[in-house]
Amino acid sequence: MINYNEKPILIFWETTKACGLTCKHCRASAMESPLEDELSYEESINFVKSIKNFGKPYPVLILTGGDVMRKNGIEKIIETANDNGIPVSVSPAATSFLTDEKLNFFREHRVLSISLSLDGNREMHDWLRGNGVYDKTINLMKKIADKKMKLQINTVAMKRNIMDLPDMLKLLIDNHINIWEVFFLIQTGRAIDAGDLTPYEYEDINHWLLFAMHYSMIIRTVESPVLRRIIDEGNENYHGNLYDKLVNKTVNLLGEPETKNIYLKSSETRDGKGIIFVGQNGDVYPSGFLPVSVDSIRDNDIVNIYRNNAILKKLRIPTNFKEPCGSCTWNDKCGGSRSRAYSYYNDIFAGDPACINSV
Ligand code: SF4
Repeated sequence: MINYNEKPILIFWETTKACGLTCKHCRASAMESPLEDELSYEESINFVKSIKNFGKPYPVLILTGGDVMRKNGIEKIIETANDNGIPVSVSPAATSFLTDEKLNFFREHRVLSISLSLDGNREMHDWLRGNGVYDKTINLMKKIADKKMKLQINTVAMKRNIMDLPDMLKLLIDNHINIWEVFFLIQTGRAIDAGDLTPYEYEDINHWLLFAMHYSMIIRTVESPVLRRIIDEGNENYHGNLYDKLVNKTVNLLGEPETKNIYLKSSETRDGKGIIFVGQNGDVYPSGFLPVSVDSIRDNDIVNIYRNNAILKKLRIPTNFKEPCGSCTWNDKCGGSRSRAYSYYNDIFAGDPACINSV
């Protein structure tokens, strides 16, 4: 059992802001060229080595962006992680930079998993990420599967694609992909105008995700820790307008689920507790969706920041949260999205406004 006061299990590193895509909801507000203050090659290598100071088992380093394929020295960075025994996953953009050669490099260097974004059908995905990106993503999905590498699909749940979620589930099943990470949009970066879900929709979708797990799908959520409460509560006798529609569509597409036992391993992490985010210039944040920098790896060691930063320490104590999260039964297991609290109330300790308990 990992003590989250001592170390995270996941370190997200925004290696660069550079990216050839211009996704409408980009958290990073990515751009064509890297920013001038991006960590240099030497700083990047030193940062990777410094992760060892957390002690074994080392956190998983998740290389993201922007487009990680545009990071100067990415191969050397992965080799350094390899040499030091630090597990690595990558989250690249679906562009021509993600070549066969690069995929082979990832496989040879024991990259744990690759995650690609897919947000719906061709029309929806290309509207969000640019013309032709859907087809590129599907091709990459098949290539990665052919190479027998672990692939995770990331999907942003938002008003515009809610009813496409059952189709997404079918697409994943048809392509033998069983890890699905569903992001619940936070109004940050370019996502400011994307439109938020209501607490009722949020509740219904999370209940549907629990239903969808019965199709042998491992489902994790980002910025939706309430799924843990919903797993505890169960779906028995649950009904909601949207939930019922989603379930009906799913059963029409896939038939009734067969699996009784579902994969429920949950690490009970949240922003700043078990996860930490390092920006392209070394600034450290509780998560990638919470634009409150607590320190910088240019000034301080990542281990010291994670263990001793006053804001991070306070974030790990759930009774510090305001209502309804502060006194909620699930305040440690869930604790609400600190990023959403900040985006609504400018207060990282406020209640999660998307939770049904806040209505
Ligand atoms: S009130 Fe807060 S802690 Fe409780 S379930 Fe809702 S979001 Fe989670």
